[in-house]
Amino acid sequence: MKIAKIEISRLHMTFTQTLKVSLGEITGADNVVIKITTDSGIFGWGEASPFAPITGDSVESNFAVAPALAQLIKGKDALAIEARMTEINGFSVGEPSLRSAFDMALYDIAAKAAGLPLYRFLGGEKRQLRTDMTIGWQDTVEETVAKAQKILDDGFDAIKLKVGRPGLEDVAHVAAVRALAGPDIAVKIDSNQGWDYATAVANINAMKPLNLQYSEQPLPVWDYDNMARLRARVDLPICADESVFDDKDALKLVKIGAADYLNIKLGKAGGIHTGLKINAIAEANGAKCMIGCFAESRLGLSAAAHLAVARPNIIFIDLDSAFSYRSDPVIGGVTFDEKIGGLLHLPDTVGHGAQIDESFLDQDGKVTV
Ligand SMILES: [Mg+2]
Repeated sequence: MKIAKIEISRLHMTFTQTLKVSLGEITGADNVVIKITTDSGIFGWGEASPFAPITGDSVESNFAVAPALAQLIKGKDALAIEARMTEINGFSVGEPSLRSAFDMALYDIAAKAAGLPLYRFLGGEKRQLRTDMTIGWQDTVEETVAKAQKILDDGFDAIKLKVGRPGLEDVAHVAAVRALAGPDIAVKIDSNQGWDYATAVANINAMKPLNLQYSEQPLPVWDYDNMARLRARVDLPICADESVFDDKDALKLVKIGAADYLNIKLGKAGGIHTGLKINAIAEANGAKCMIGCFAESRLGLSAAAHLAVARPNIIFIDLDSAFSYRSDPVIGGVTFDEKIGGLLHLPDTVGHGAQIDESFLDQDGKVTV
C-alpha cells in the first residue's frame, strides 16, 4: 500500500478563555493537519500542535519542513511504520509536533487497513479512561476556587493545578482547592519548570498535608540531577514532562531515579511509535506513565487516547484541550461523557476514528505533495 498524496493544512482554533501557565499565555491554537492518502484509497489523519517554548517547533517551522518530509515518504509503503518512522525521525531531531502528525496518520492508515480500531491494532483491550481538568494560573485564590468549583460541578474526579509562582505563593491556591474538593478528588500540581530546587522542596513540604497525587515538572527541563535529589528528599511522586521527549530521555531519567512517572505527549515524542518505547522503558523500570496533550483538537486527542487505552501502564490521563475550544472541527473520534466528568468514549470505528471537517482548514495555505 503506497503513499500517494500528502496534504498539509493549517487549523486555527480559539479558546473560550486565555490559559495562563508559568511559560506564558495561550489564547488558542494554530495547528497543522496532515492527511496521507494511499494508492488503495485508505487515508489517515494526523495533527501537530506545536508550542515552541516546549516543543521547539512552530506552525511556521512545521510548514517549512513538512513538504520535504512528505517527499521523503511519498511512493513508499504506508504500512511499514517502523521503516517510515525511522526515516522521519532520522530526517530531523527537531519538529517533534510535525513528526507526530505524520506518525498518527500512518497508524490511522495501518489500523484501517487491518480493519481494527487503533487501540486493538496496538494490542490493547478497551478500558475506562478519565481525564483530569487543568486550572491555569489565576491571579487570586478566589478565581482559582471558582474554576475548581466549575470542574467539580462538571463531575470531574481529578484536578490539575498549574503552579510555579515565586516563593510559596502557590500554597494558598492549592490548599483552597483541596479544602473545596474534599479528600476524594485527586489533586495534582504542574510547575512547568517554574521552581528551582529549594523552592520546590519548600513548596512540596508545605503542601504535604494536602494529599497531592504528584508534582509534575517541578524543575527546569535540563535539571535531571536535582530532580533525582528532589525525588529522594520529598514525600511526593515526581512526574517528568518537559524533561522527557523521547525514549532516550526516558532511559536517562529512570536510570538516575529522577521520576516516578513519565508524561508521554505525542507532540514531544514525535508520535505513537516513540510513545510506545517510552512506556516500555518506564514499565521495565517500575515507573508508570501519564498521557498529556498540548492544544490538540479531538483529532490529536483521539490518537493519544488509543495509545493510552492500549497500554495499562499509562495510568494518568490529561487529555483536556478539547474542552477549551469555541468550536469542534472533528468528526468521529474520542468524545467525553455528558454526565461523568472527564470520562472518555472511544468509538470502535477503524483507525483512530477522527477526521477533520475540511471546511475548518485554511485552504489558502494548503500544500499538497
Ligand atoms: Mg505538564
